[in-house]
Amino acid sequence: MQGKTKYIFVTGGVTSSLGKGILAASLAKLLQSRGYTVTIQKLDPYINIDPGTLNPYEHGECYVTDDGAETDLDLGHYERFLNVSTSQANNVTTGRIYLSVIEKERKGEFLGKTVQVIPHITDEIKNRIKLLGKTGQYQFVITEIGGTVGDIESLPYIEAVRQLKWEMGQDCAVVHLTLLPYLATSGELKTKPTQHSVKLLLEYGVQPDVLVCRSEYAISRDIRKKIALFCNVSNDAVIEALDAPTIYEVPLLMEQEKLDEIVLQKLNVTPDAEPKLDKWREFLHKLHNPSKEVCIALVGKYVELKESYKSIAEAFIHAGAVNDCKVKLDWIHSESLTEENINAKLKNAKGILVAPGFGNRGIEGKVLAIKYARENKVPFFGICLGMQCAVIEFARNVLGLKDAHSREMNPATNSPVIDLLEAQKNISHMGGTMRLGAYPCRIEDGTLAKKIYNTTDIQERHRHRYEFNNEYTKQFTQAGMVISGINPDAGLAEIVEIPTHPFFIGVQFHPEYKSTVERPHPLFVSFVKACLG
Ligand code: GLN
Repeated sequence: MQGKTKYIFVTGGVTSSLGKGILAASLAKLLQSRGYTVTIQKLDPYINIDPGTLNPYEHGECYVTDDGAETDLDLGHYERFLNVSTSQANNVTTGRIYLSVIEKERKGEFLGKTVQVIPHITDEIKNRIKLLGKTGQYQFVITEIGGTVGDIESLPYIEAVRQLKWEMGQDCAVVHLTLLPYLATSGELKTKPTQHSVKLLLEYGVQPDVLVCRSEYAISRDIRKKIALFCNVSNDAVIEALDAPTIYEVPLLMEQEKLDEIVLQKLNVTPDAEPKLDKWREFLHKLHNPSKEVCIALVGKYVELKESYKSIAEAFIHAGAVNDCKVKLDWIHSESLTEENINAKLKNAKGILVAPGFGNRGIEGKVLAIKYARENKVPFFGICLGMQCAVIEFARNVLGLKDAHSREMNPATNSPVIDLLEAQKNISHMGGTMRLGAYPCRIEDGTLAKKIYNTTDIQERHRHRYEFNNEYTKQFTQAGMVISGINPDAGLAEIVEIPTHPFFIGVQFHPEYKSTVERPHPLFVSFVKACLG
């Protein structure tokens, strides 16, 4: 295939949560497996500039890219499926669109003109969509439009899609994801909601090229024909998307349904190769046929909402498959842990992961869980706040600094073993003080970290404000907690470990963001292995 970048839009109808992100990632995977270069972008219709300021209860996990963008968790799926890094350009919100239009207006760039949703906002949206194509790196750009067709807030995005379709002709295709609800009383799959959502799209001037229909039951030929007729799409462009046992199965289901073939046809591309998914299948085979199982406690404060720890849960799926085992996560609410119940609550866990987080709630439970892991020689893995809590626990219970804390939780502590950097103390703007994105880390020889990574220089992604306080380095080292990874430019402690413990490691960064199907993260792989004994 030569020439221009092709653009594919994924819209959603009928209800939210149908899995547009997984559909976009699966289509991208199929195109990638045919040898094409692909990237995926998410357009989010909310006013926040990014999800960084959103509570995990509202929006699930905030995913972080190498270039330090705080993004929607769908970008995590894109990276896990494609094994290609995303960037700020891959996630755009309405807030960001408006911010840049308003900034241009203030600079006088539209001097004399009334600034309006059409054309100014829609032009800005179109530019953001085309930006990825213009890098020359991708043959296909798949853009997922957040929200459901008919939402007031996604109208400008649908209008931008209409304009691009008009301008680009066959270089552009729209895949619309809908739901066929099953009515148990009449024993039927109903097509009307799908018809209505397509009618709505048509009202906005967008004719979808392909319909992907989520359904709990197989869709008969008659139903497909009916949907095709009412929605002006060809019969073969009505695709069945049955509920899958795991998200990683979806690319294969879509391959069977020939989704990629039909999309390529609509884009006037004659494929040069069939999808090659051997490695993906191998992973799925391991995932579905584990020879053992291991229970790992995930201690966090958002455990009732598993979406908040999405990347960690997925990293365990990748690491489990490598270790030929199923990782059973025991989600434990840190607020529920007390001195009295800790043994009972953690007795089945073959390993303990303490999760990232912000704020004071649930902190003491995390510290208790770490004490339990340290004293009982249970494999321990702390991520970001989890690492900071390991430092606090060690300070209190080994160094005897009874009120040791992070300045975040207790600004008045006499032993601020976790503290802000001097340079950050006067910044109040949200996000201004965060250390975000990929930073280098140098690993010390002869450490567990060195054994795990098997290399000296690594890059990992960060999202935090507070740091290990280097004034305490000597005390910690002398008492047996080793700093095994250091940022070579700033001297910040990035990895801590206890060499006398079978497996005790805490990392200031977020390894979970970089675990993919093709490249399971070594820290998770080694941790699972340690938990297996
Ligand atoms: N709240 C801690 C900090 O800001 C840790 C953040 C996190 O776990 N992502 O440093």
